[in-house]
Amino acid sequence: MKSSISLRFVVIGASVAGLSCAYLLQQSGHEVLVLERSRRAENPDGGLKVPPNMARLLHLFPGTMEMLKEKATLCSGVYFLAGESSKLLGRMIFKEEIMSDLGSDFYIVAYSDFIAHLYNLCISSGVRIKHGFIAKNVVASSDSPPVVVSESGVQITADFVVGADGRKSITRQAIPSEEQESDDDLLEFHIPNGNKRATPKTELTPLLAANVTIPISLMKDDPQLAPLTRDDRFVVWTGNGSSVGTICCGGKFVLTYNTRPPGPNDRDLEWDDAAPASTFLERLKDYHPLVRKVARLAKSSHWTIQVPKDRSRFTNPQNNVVVIGDAAHTLPINATHSCSGAMEDAVTFGYLFSHLRSRNQVPLFLNGYNHIRGDRTKMSEELEFAGISLVSIPPGPQRDARDSALGMTLHLEGADDETLARVWGDYVRAFNYDAVDAVDEWYMNWAKPLHSAAHSAY
Ligand SMILES: Cc1cc2nc3c(=O)[nH]c(=O)nc-3n(C[C@H](O)[C@H](O)[C@H](O)COP(=O)(O)OP(=O)(O)OC[C@H]3O[C@@H](n4cnc5c(N)ncnc54)[C@H](O)[C@@H]3O)c2cc1C
Repeated sequence: MKSSISLRFVVIGASVAGLSCAYLLQQSGHEVLVLERSRRAENPDGGLKVPPNMARLLHLFPGTMEMLKEKATLCSGVYFLAGESSKLLGRMIFKEEIMSDLGSDFYIVAYSDFIAHLYNLCISSGVRIKHGFIAKNVVASSDSPPVVVSESGVQITADFVVGADGRKSITRQAIPSEEQESDDDLLEFHIPNGNKRATPKTELTPLLAANVTIPISLMKDDPQLAPLTRDDRFVVWTGNGSSVGTICCGGKFVLTYNTRPPGPNDRDLEWDDAAPASTFLERLKDYHPLVRKVARLAKSSHWTIQVPKDRSRFTNPQNNVVVIGDAAHTLPINATHSCSGAMEDAVTFGYLFSHLRSRNQVPLFLNGYNHIRGDRTKMSEELEFAGISLVSIPPGPQRDARDSALGMTLHLEGADDETLARVWGDYVRAFNYDAVDAVDEWYMNWAKPLHSAAHSAY
């Protein structure tokens, strides 16, 4: 769909959220300039999870499914192992019946392959991308268009600024924080034994995350490590106050590490700044020798601290700035939905603005954006933080209870749909979300009737 008017958008940040949003806005007839602080990275480390709620949006980005089929790993399931012993505790197998019901698969793709594809799509559709532009602040007022100012004093004016500048977003400063809405103290969530119970609300406390990437060429001649290079699973090694994830994609083996809260000496680095690999290895003392053996092959590690933010609104009062992706929320890196949340934001915003009929509709559309993304983001954050807590319980009765609950998932062979839904309900619900449907529903219920009413009044 093409917008009836063309606005000038500046997008800050050329990663998952920024490039996806830029492409969709340009395709719907707007004019887009992307500002990116880094010089184009040749081959950045890392691997991204593409769960079904993200995979089903990729038809909007030509050639992406083909690229995934060629370069990504089709994930066969999530497996939970005891970090110390490697004992299998539980698993969620992505059975064909479940995935075909969802209409999409779960992929794991190298960060570099995914970004390169989005980047090329943007360039071929006419998006302009300016590298080496370090945005310092965004000046927004109601009587003039917003201006992005760089560290060197360059000013760029636009009709609208999209902040896709990650977890240390400078764009976020243009959006005054609001009082968090008060929530109930108790939250209901599933644990994998299928019983729903009231549990103290998962605290969204700061999180320390890290990863190392190893070329599989360094592993394939070692008889112990070679099987890992063919692994199509997302493996979660449950630890004492932390967890390690392992995935294999695009000729790389990626180990991730998550713990919270960070310690006083933990440093908050940029994700693309390399730290010594030894700092990663130090964290793995309690983990199985196989995990440590792979980690020893890494040349460097990447660290970040994520601090949960006020997520009640994503747009500014002047209605000319929005934040999306990690700039807007705290979906834990290395978990299941960090990338899919960014893509959902980008698609929601881009697809919404393809429906624009006049400038007067912008405040209404932004209201719609806040509404659509607010509820969904909150649900995804709570699910992901609860998941991280679950896989890092220290030894003791709580961990034993978790392990026996996870153990029930080992006996689901031949289970009917109802049982599977009871056991994995929250996860499947998160996979089942469709960002395009959410926009269509909002548009039909709100924007279309209001537009028709405004026109019939004349
Ligand atoms: C190099 C790299 C590797 C990653 N690897 C992994 C991984 O292995 N696993 C994982 O779960 N997640 C990884 N991530 C994070 C993952 O991409 C995000 O959590 C998620 O996909 C949300 O993406 P995003 O676009 O909102 O934010 P990000 O991916 O963080 O992108 C933000 C972008 O904005 C740019 N930027 C930031 N500040 C400014 C500024 N002031 N001016 C201009 N540009 C700015 C950054 O350079 C970056 O390109 C990685 C991110 C990067 C940048």
